[in-house]
Amino acid sequence: MSSFVFEPAPRPALPVQGSDALFPVRRIFCIARNYADHAREMGQDPDREPPFFFTKPGDGVVPVPFGQEVDWRYPLATQDLHHEVEMVVALKQGGEKLSPEHAAQCIFGYGIGLDLTRRDLQAEAKAKNRPWDLAKGFDESAPISTLVPVEQCGTLQQGKVSLAINGQTRQQGDLSDMIWQVPEIIALISQYFTLQAGDLIFTGTPAGVAPMFPGDQVLASVAGVGELKLKVVAR
Ligand code: MN
Repeated sequence: MSSFVFEPAPRPALPVQGSDALFPVRRIFCIARNYADHAREMGQDPDREPPFFFTKPGDGVVPVPFGQEVDWRYPLATQDLHHEVEMVVALKQGGEKLSPEHAAQCIFGYGIGLDLTRRDLQAEAKAKNRPWDLAKGFDESAPISTLVPVEQCGTLQQGKVSLAINGQTRQQGDLSDMIWQVPEIIALISQYFTLQAGDLIFTGTPAGVAPMFPGDQVLASVAGVGELKLKVVAR
């Protein structure tokens, strides 16, 4: 029997509405520019661009249980930390080269996520044709709410997605505005990776991304899922 040379880190996990059991997180995939108004605010033409993806480490997850306000530490190495509110899709099964119809059956449930972004490092990466990892995949870069199983909320294809800072609305959109719908996104990612139970997918953000600072109170919501509350604190 093998043991480990040191104690393994605990597996990242998310609470599940209506259950005492946790959802064990494996990987995090993200689609970029999936709302036309956000693609335009980033200087892109949403009508001509095929979708592309990036990842965050699974241990970047910060669980934000419903009904709690979680303190979240402002990250290292940025002067321009941006919020991006997104619906997160959690998978209970996976596969490779899935059809959209099969992909839809892989959904465990939904959460509210923040695809937090060191925008200054992203701008530098874009200018130098470098990867986005430093901008997107940093420690604690993925706060996610309690997950709501699809049996409880139904398939979510429309509904408001919004984010407010200190009571002021910053981002607002609707799930029906996604350029690529959830089953298509899962199917597309499965062309590149063998998806598995525990994988999470950030489905893109509406317009209004902007910086946040220590002291800010964040309220993010996805209709049909719930609310996520964070307080940004200094390191
Ligand atoms: Mn995003």
